[in-house]
Amino acid sequence: MIAHNLGYPRIGSHRELKKACEQYWAGKITPEQLVETGRTIRRENWLLQQQAGIDLVPCNDFSFYDQVLDLTLAVGAVPERFQPLLEKPGFAAQDLYFAMARGYQKDGLDLIAMEMTKWFDTNYHYIVPEFSREQTFRRFSEKILDEFREARNVLGSVPKPVLIGPVTYLLLGKEKEPGFHRLDLLDRLLPVYEEILAGLEAEGAEWIQLDEPGLVIDLDDRQREAFAAAYRRLRNRFPALKLMVASYFECFGENLPTAVGLPVDALHLDLVRCPSQLDDLLRTGLVSGTVRLSLGLVDGRNVWLNDLDRSLSFLRKAVDALGEDRVMVAPSCSLLHVPCDLELETGTGSLTPELKQWMAFARQKLTEVVRLARLAEDPGNETARVWLLQNQAALEARRQSAAIHRPEVQARVKALRETDGRRSAPFAQRQILQQQVLNLPVWPTTTIGSFPQTGEVRLNRARYRKGEKTVTEYEAFIRKETESAIRRQEEIGLDVLVHGEFERNDMVEYFGELLDGFAFSEYGWVQSYGSRCVKPPLIFGDVARPEPMTVRWAEFAQSLTEKPVKGMLTGPVTILQWSFVRDDQPRRDTCLQIALAIRDEVLDLEKAGIRIIQIDEPALREGLPLRRENWETYLNWAVGAFRVAASGVRDETQIHTHMCYSEFNDIIRPIADMDADVITIETSRSQMELLDVFAEFRYPNEIGPGVYDIHSQRIPSTEEITALLHRAASVLPVRNLWVNPDCGLKTRRWPETEEALRNMVRAARIAREQFVEKVE
Ligand code: GLN
Ligand code: ZN
Repeated sequence: MIAHNLGYPRIGSHRELKKACEQYWAGKITPEQLVETGRTIRRENWLLQQQAGIDLVPCNDFSFYDQVLDLTLAVGAVPERFQPLLEKPGFAAQDLYFAMARGYQKDGLDLIAMEMTKWFDTNYHYIVPEFSREQTFRRFSEKILDEFREARNVLGSVPKPVLIGPVTYLLLGKEKEPGFHRLDLLDRLLPVYEEILAGLEAEGAEWIQLDEPGLVIDLDDRQREAFAAAYRRLRNRFPALKLMVASYFECFGENLPTAVGLPVDALHLDLVRCPSQLDDLLRTGLVSGTVRLSLGLVDGRNVWLNDLDRSLSFLRKAVDALGEDRVMVAPSCSLLHVPCDLELETGTGSLTPELKQWMAFARQKLTEVVRLARLAEDPGNETARVWLLQNQAALEARRQSAAIHRPEVQARVKALRETDGRRSAPFAQRQILQQQVLNLPVWPTTTIGSFPQTGEVRLNRARYRKGEKTVTEYEAFIRKETESAIRRQEEIGLDVLVHGEFERNDMVEYFGELLDGFAFSEYGWVQSYGSRCVKPPLIFGDVARPEPMTVRWAEFAQSLTEKPVKGMLTGPVTILQWSFVRDDQPRRDTCLQIALAIRDEVLDLEKAGIRIIQIDEPALREGLPLRRENWETYLNWAVGAFRVAASGVRDETQIHTHMCYSEFNDIIRPIADMDADVITIETSRSQMELLDVFAEFRYPNEIGPGVYDIHSQRIPSTEEITALLHRAASVLPVRNLWVNPDCGLKTRRWPETEEALRNMVRAARIAREQFVEKVE
């Protein structure tokens, strides 16, 4: 039985790629040194996959920045604005590539980077292809072929090139002008794919993996037909190449007949996300054909140990129906989305041995895939039996572990009632009560939470973490920063202040470290985009809050000023979304456990005299399932969890939430259902276009549309902000409007922050005078 892999993390086990790229961009290493780093990483990855026993080792899964951008270059879809770079004599290929990814501002040129967006429902971001009506394609970069040859030399056997399939590639892109649909370009794109495949075939390639995760999203008939047409054409042209279409992250759903009908040699299924799919498939006529099934049984999206016995039952079923030589085994998707190697976690402050026995990172997952193939071939084999027993013992230990299971936490989730997610009075009444307590002016001004994390703040934290600074010293420093932030806010004239979040490294990690049920790895990095990596917390057990987490800081900040200070918390959905989540209970249950911990924190803040509490949920939208039919279920529990976190307080206590940088138009109703008293939301990049949606929906509660983009160094003028406030007032009731930036200010520096906020406060004052009549 063939054991294969769909893709391996390319950042290097110690983030070598990140470091090399950043050094290259800073001009500190040569192009050759950068290329050499890439070569070393690829070589290590190929060899370790081979040594693990993987039969088909992927190539072209490496990328210096992004695999979609690589393909854009392979098919020559370089947007027009980068042409000047192509014409520059001696201009290096890498620099064109990075210019497309990151923009280019040099030699009198100012080229805007291509857009970036999330890869399906992952936290990986790809560079969005740009298509014009007259779009042409041509064979351009030779990376695919070069990497194939390189891998073959390293491995001494034939690797399996991985390409994004043509239809998914087009679907991932964006039309840059009206008058055509990107799928119209398929006939122009396919000849270039044919050239690439012909090149690979001539070099001796056998299997080609074409990733078509586009097959799991909602498609119309025409889109489905594009898949059929593309593969008919490739099949005719390459009768001898073994084409494997790989799809993942969801069930095929309505697209199942299309997927099954593709004239290919193998179809890869994600049985982790969609365990029922094997039965669905075997029920189709496919069994009588010759197509092979690649079963994605090892979770490529999460870090937990595989249940080998359970996976084997899938393999047996497939083998019974199709015969052994028509079944392959693989991870569910590329291993890009998991950290490299669990064996690196040996240091202090790393994962405990108990936890490690329940986990598998990319390297360990390869072993799982290979063991599954061997177990399926020869279940009676002595070594194989030992693997199975070991695996069962680890899983059993996990099921029983007191570190994971806390009956009191589970009982609390079970005991939740509808009323726990409901404030006692409706918003209209709360608004009056809150106004009596807070006595804020119209157009109250505030910020989203964090203030600049200066080099000094980061340095102090790093020293403290390394043990070079005592708790007392570190906390004295944080108090000093907080106090200075309060003074600055008072001086600027803001109405609702924040403590500044100087004690926090990251809005999820900070809470994870203070909650039971979370663990942190030392090297568990995952690529988020380009050279940026994240190290998500691991939620392994029932979540509980041993003690208050933020109350001291909030209380301290409030003691410094007469103005209200907002308590600042991260919401349950965002904590869930930005972590690796346990797979032994539904995500909803884990989310509710976090919600209860946050609820307790909210109540402690209230008890400590904090009158306004913000619960950030920037990741609410990210959790949306790929298919619309599953949205409602998700939104119900996600919004429900937020409400559990928020609803314990008295009516006088004002609950804020914050969301940013995503598409809110189609989830406006669930946002309203969260019933936060105030929502601050990013809108300035679209010149507040989003507001129309809120207006049309008649969003009932208070809202602070962001009046300037904090991602830019640019300082917005008072006039600009005033104009945006006018726009807001033209569609929403003035008594419901707040004035604030788009998002937290931690990436900015103090001088620009102070100046921008001064202009913002000035604009609010002007608006107050202009709108005073309207309000009365
Ligand atoms: N309170 C957080 C901050 O200001 C919110 C960050 C976010 O929206 N991602 O940093
Ligand atoms: Zn934000």
